[in-house]
Amino acid sequence: MTPAQSTCRADALAAGYGILVQGGSALAAVECTIGLLEQSGLFNAGRGANRQLDGVQRMDAAIMEGAHLQAGAVASLEGIVHPITAARLVMEKTDHVLLVGPLAGRFARHFKLDRHRAIGAPRRLSYDRILARQTRSTAERHGTVGAVALDRFGTVAAGASTGGIESMLPGRVGDSPLIGCGVYADNHSGAVSMTGMGEGIIRLVIAKGICDRLAMGKSPAVAARQVLRMLVARIRGSAGALVLSPDGRFAIRHMTPYMAAGWWNGTGQPNVRGQFP
Ligand code: ASP
Repeated sequence: MTPAQSTCRADALAAGYGILVQGGSALAAVECTIGLLEQSGLFNAGRGANRQLDGVQRMDAAIMEGAHLQAGAVASLEGIVHPITAARLVMEKTDHVLLVGPLAGRFARHFKLDRHRAIGAPRRLSYDRILARQTRSTAERHGTVGAVALDRFGTVAAGASTGGIESMLPGRVGDSPLIGCGVYADNHSGAVSMTGMGEGIIRLVIAKGICDRLAMGKSPAVAARQVLRMLVARIRGSAGALVLSPDGRFAIRHMTPYMAAGWWNGTGQPNVRGQFP
């Protein structure tokens, strides 16, 4: 975690908390926090999103609130600075949950969301070369951004925004825009936002799995640990989780070596670290 990333995270935490203190919703706090990280270009989301193997940034994001189980998401979105806001607009302005690809972009432009153009032209690679690159590379670059929040009305919310993983086929979609996989929020259980290798997170429907354990009375730390251990044991997955229960207990847990994350309860400085026990 660079100093710039650390400062940006602390600022984003402070901004999100500021919304909650002023009586704003958990949903607004999550959108604002993620929006600042997308805007910065310092993370794998928004301006800084990874590129797929054809050189194009295609972004995924989702947001969900726990009072009415409303959710919105976008996948394979191009050229928009704030996919998380596009996701919230899908939730609030449509009867749907997920919009994808160029038509998700058209939807975002209709609402005049800020646009950005990625530096560099798309690569014209044959499909054989794209497939070869995909299988050759084992490197993982993460940096997805996510947030969970609880407001004074007792509503929880969760969100995530990402440019995906390293060496993705064009058109690959990860866990982040899939409700129940990368993100889930329910006032009867809690809020979860995931990061890590999306394919494994999807196959075990991790965010909902953690929420189900919260609903059974497990603490956020125990619920996260149980599900992440299962992910590793069953399919050698790799992930980290932000978990918040409706009574305000939370846990940050990861099976990856590092996970840069933070929290703030309004006193002292926002806590930002690169590893959690
Ligand atoms: N979960 C994201 C994905 O698979 C990547 C990440 O968390 O960094 O798209």
